[in-house]
Amino acid sequence: MTQTIPPQSQDHQPGVERQMKPQAEHIRADYRGSGKLQGRHALITGGDSGIGRAAALHFAREGADVAILYLEETEDAQETIRLIEAEGVKALAIEGDVSDSSVCNDAVARTVDTFGGLDIIVNNAGVQYVSEDLTDISDETWQRHMNVNINGYFYITRAALPHLGKGSAIINTSSINAFAGNKSLVAYTTTKAAEMGFTRALALQLADKGIRVNAVAPGPVWTPLQPASWGPIDPQEVADLGKDTPLGRIGQPSELGPAYVYLASQDASYVTGQTVHVNGGMIING
Ligand code: NAD
Ligand code: MG
Repeated sequence: MTQTIPPQSQDHQPGVERQMKPQAEHIRADYRGSGKLQGRHALITGGDSGIGRAAALHFAREGADVAILYLEETEDAQETIRLIEAEGVKALAIEGDVSDSSVCNDAVARTVDTFGGLDIIVNNAGVQYVSEDLTDISDETWQRHMNVNINGYFYITRAALPHLGKGSAIINTSSINAFAGNKSLVAYTTTKAAEMGFTRALALQLADKGIRVNAVAPGPVWTPLQPASWGPIDPQEVADLGKDTPLGRIGQPSELGPAYVYLASQDASYVTGQTVHVNGGMIING
C-alpha cells in the first residue's frame, strides 16, 4: 500500500486518527482469521489507535475478547470498540493514565471481571517528544517518557501476572530506535531500549511458568504519534517518514497486527525473549 503523505502536524499528544491525511489502515479487508486466539482475553494499552488498534482488530478477528486502555482519545476508543465488536467478540474501553499504578491495577481488575480471565497483555502505550539537543529536554519531558514508556509497562505487567498462566503471552511494543538509536529522540530511545531489557529479563523469569514475553520493534508506521511528535517540529518530516527504509515507504498499522497475532498465539509456543522486527527492511545489530 503506497500512499503519499502530505506535510502535516497535530498540536497535541496523543494525536488522533481523524486528523490524519490519509487515514491509516489497521487491518486488511482480506485478512482472514482462523481462530488462533479463540476464547482468549487480551488487554492492550494504547489500543485506541495506531499499532495498538491494529493489534486489537487482529486479535478480535482471531477470536479474542479485547480490552483497550487509552489516555483520553474517546472518539478513537469508541471506534475501536465498534470495530472489535463487529468481529463478534467482547470489547472493553478503559480511560486512564498508565503512569499511575492504581490505574493499571484497576484496568487489569476490570478486564478480568468483564471477560472472566486474562491471557494476553500488549504493553504499547507510549509518548515520543522530539528534541535535537539533550540540553533542551526538561525534567518533566524526560520523566514523562520514563513514566509512560517504562513505568507503564511495569505497572500493567505486575498487575496482570497473578492472572496469567501457562500459555499466556506478554508482548511489548519497542522500536527500531532501541537498536539503531535516533539523534532527535534520546529520551524516547532510552525508554525503548529499557523495554527490550524488560522483555529479555522477564522472559527468563517467567519461562518456568509457561508465560512467554516478546517484543515487536516497529520501524516508521503511519499512526497519530507521527504528526503529533514530528509535526510540531517540522510538518515535512512527517511526509518524509520511511522514505529512507529499503522498502522506501512508511508502514501501515495493518502490517504490524499479524506480528502480534503470531507472538500471542500458540504458533509462537517456542519463542520467548525475542523481537520481531517489522521495519521496512532495516538491518539490525543486536
Ligand atoms: P498512537 O498515538 O496511536 O498510540 C499511542 C497510544 O498511547 C495512544 O493511543 C495513547 O492513548 C496511549 N498513551 C499515551 N500516553 C498514555 C498514558 N499516559 N496512559 C495511557 N495511554 C497512553 O501511536 P503508535 O505509533 O501506534 O504508538 C504505539 C506504540 O508504538 C508506542 O509504544 C510507540 O513508541 C511504538 N512505536 C511506534 C512507531 C511508529 O512509527 N508509529 C515506531 C516504533 C514504535
Ligand atoms: Mg490514540
